[in-house]
Amino acid sequence: MSSAVASAITFDTVFARELPEMAIPWRAEEFPAPEVLVLGEALALDLGFDPGQLRSPDGARLLTGGLVPAGAAPVAQAYSGHQFGWYSPRLGDGRALLIGELRRPDGGLVDLHLKGSGPTPFARGGDGLAALAPMLREYLISEAMHALTIPTTRALAVTTTGATVHRSGPQSGAVLARIASSHLRVGSFQFAAAKGDTALLRRLADHAIDRHHPDAAAAKNPYLALLTGVVRVQAELIARWMLVGFIHGVMNTDNMTISGQTIDYGPCAFMDAFDPATVFSSIDETGRYSYRNQPVAAEWNLARFAETLIPLLADDQDEAVSLAEAAVGGFRQRYSAAWTAGMRAKLGLSGTVPDEAASALAADLFPVLEEHAVDLTSFFRALSPAVRGDDAPVRSLVGGRAVAEWLDRWKATDPDPDLMDRTNPVYIPRNHLVEDALAATTAGDLGPFTLLLDLVTSPYGERPGCERYASPAPRDFGPYRTYCGT
Ligand code: AMP
Ligand code: MG
Repeated sequence: MSSAVASAITFDTVFARELPEMAIPWRAEEFPAPEVLVLGEALALDLGFDPGQLRSPDGARLLTGGLVPAGAAPVAQAYSGHQFGWYSPRLGDGRALLIGELRRPDGGLVDLHLKGSGPTPFARGGDGLAALAPMLREYLISEAMHALTIPTTRALAVTTTGATVHRSGPQSGAVLARIASSHLRVGSFQFAAAKGDTALLRRLADHAIDRHHPDAAAAKNPYLALLTGVVRVQAELIARWMLVGFIHGVMNTDNMTISGQTIDYGPCAFMDAFDPATVFSSIDETGRYSYRNQPVAAEWNLARFAETLIPLLADDQDEAVSLAEAAVGGFRQRYSAAWTAGMRAKLGLSGTVPDEAASALAADLFPVLEEHAVDLTSFFRALSPAVRGDDAPVRSLVGGRAVAEWLDRWKATDPDPDLMDRTNPVYIPRNHLVEDALAATTAGDLGPFTLLLDLVTSPYGERPGCERYASPAPRDFGPYRTYCGT
């Protein structure tokens, strides 16, 4: 089992050791011909890997689970979850494995996790596999989110397996190697709580505090501090999504992390023209996870999280419930504060502009963007040239008088265009570009994917010759549909 490929890295099994009730030892499928297709070299180096070795045949086996590095012991993690509001007591990694944790050079522990590595006891009839295009999609969008400084799991590599996966037709199989500060979810706590085993729940909560909210350990009530910490990181996360127009698409409780990282890039997509009702996922018929509902969906998930912690919050049940309610009740204020701070930066407002004036500017802007179906990303980027004296980019997006009065009012606040250029991206994974890039990859040409990845991972500087990548979708594009479990 030993190989030079990860010899410099020390793997651990903290989750499996501390929470064996939630970890089923398991092995990946043996794949016929694993080959590394895309590798995040900077991330690999940051984790202590040698990118050259990761690209070798042994590296490809490590990245698909066939070669287990020394110290690691792969497990399928158990969890429960509310999916579209309906509770499933037994979900878990149906097509993924936690290979182990590794210690970053800066001391933090991260998970190496493989998605598409074959069926586990949680596969529920699924094939346990993943097709190439959706794994490349997760790679692209999660790396774009990271470049936008939005907390997220990272993509280390996409490795083709040499096996065929059957979806609507035959497709190349692939495994995504994912790095996360952990894979603990609200659903992990639902699993422990449903067992009615308070000792397990406490061990899970202690594990979560240790990994993600270490300050909570010293609090008077550590489990309340954990809850408050998760409410805070999630409120801040969802505000970041909203500010860039990111729609997760499947905000089930098993897809909400305790760390505050975005996880599970399935049907997610970025909004093009601003419309709060936007929903992309093919199965989201009621718009439960539409753009505008994301804060409410997050709050609902946090209430489910809080319920799991009741036995730990206080000996007296009524007291525990009121502590939980108060903590979840803090979500709205946290979310508003994070959103307003983010919007101030998007509008380039200095500290002398009162929050009320900033909120009023935003409140008057969004109805105009909606009415005129203005591209959200392009609009905000077009504001900095407007400060510098060139209104043409804004006017090409919102014609005539629609925005003129607003622009005058906003310019009177003396906005900082450099702050705006650092905040409002030029390049995001626009849906039409993502689809084109993935279609080319399926046809054997990785070029468009590589270029798009390059742009969205340096999203704040205009690149000459890449104007097409900064432009709104063509009028005839859409309606756009995305899918789960692909
Ligand atoms: P997701 O929508 O990716 O959060 O997945 C929800 C659940 O379905 C998780 O337990 C996944 O592991 C499982 N799952 C998704 N796709 C597959 C598949 N092709 N085979 C087995 N399990 C799957
Ligand atoms: Mg999931």
